Amino acid sequence: MYDIIIIGGGPAGLTAGLYAGRSKLKTLIIEKAVAGGQISGTAFVENYPGSIPEATGMGLAERVLEQAEEFCEIKYANVKAVELEGKVKKVVTDEGEFEAKVIIISTGASHRKLGAPGEEEFANKGVSYCATCDGPFFTGLDIFVVGGGDSALEEANYLTKFGKSVTIIHRRDEFRASGVVVDKIKSNPKIKLVLDSVVKEIKGNKEAEALLVENVKTGEIKELKSDDNSPIGVFIFVGYIPQTDIFEGKIEMNHGYILTDEDMKTNVEGVFAIGDTRDKKVRQMVTAAGDGCTAAVLANRYLEGAKW
Ligand code: NAP
Repeated sequence: MYDIIIIGGGPAGLTAGLYAGRSKLKTLIIEKAVAGGQISGTAFVENYPGSIPEATGMGLAERVLEQAEEFCEIKYANVKAVELEGKVKKVVTDEGEFEAKVIIISTGASHRKLGAPGEEEFANKGVSYCATCDGPFFTGLDIFVVGGGDSALEEANYLTKFGKSVTIIHRRDEFRASGVVVDKIKSNPKIKLVLDSVVKEIKGNKEAEALLVENVKTGEIKELKSDDNSPIGVFIFVGYIPQTDIFEGKIEMNHGYILTDEDMKTNVEGVFAIGDTRDKKVRQMVTAAGDGCTAAVLANRYLEGAKW
């Protein structure tokens, strides 16, 4: 019987493990693949406080993992089912069953992909899903943003700090994003719009250099690239997919994101949710780590008898 089982070993889960282990709680982190989460797939991390400019995402993830491993147990297994009700929670994995008094869910959310040819090939070579992380790498270059929601428009606006130009490609002629955000991008002289259009292919040699885009109303196909054949940035914001299927019907969610209060508590006693898996606005490594710390500290208090 563990005090705490943390499901998911991204920055949120590893930080929760570090804090819980340092509080002398018997803690198990269960990770299905590579600890470090989305950060492991990020080229460089320049925006985590204290990280050095040349810190690779993988390097930073490994360091956080080492830190967590000093204080808690980590098991690599696929979680198949959970029983969250009652004082003793159960986690069923392909490597056996585990029990704990507290569960911290940190299964994350993955970026929805476009599925266009070239998207995988040019990932981290022009194609990005994080403007805050990768925007500075495209300083002075032409940037293309795909999507029409709040993320796409807000990030497009942010990317005008870096790009020579920022072109938003959206599949409809109306944006899903809120009116204020739409007004902001429409009044930004650096932003161009390519509407009613979908990306058919991302092309290039070593790095992304052009996009083939189809107008869904006319069927016309255009190539979008820079005037001088420089590399381009392609930022894709077509929504997220929270990894919460196994919790469906067991916990309160909003469009698949787990609802918590500011203490990371869910509606189920003894169950916390942290990081990208919970319903919140800012999804960054630093906010994930903050969530992990909050949940671990308050889980300790709960185990000492504090009310839920
Ligand atoms: P979203 O609201 O789901 O928008 C996704 C956008 O991508 C939509 O415009 C959608 O087009 C488009 N899209 C989806 N699949 C596509 C595909 N295969 N090809 C081309 N385009 C595709 O996602 P989000 O912008 O990441 O926002 C997620 C949630 O977080 C939303 O509730 C949003 O309001 C919220 N959010 C809030 C803030 C804020 O309050 N500051 C900031 C960011 C996000 P259609 O419109 O045609 O469906």
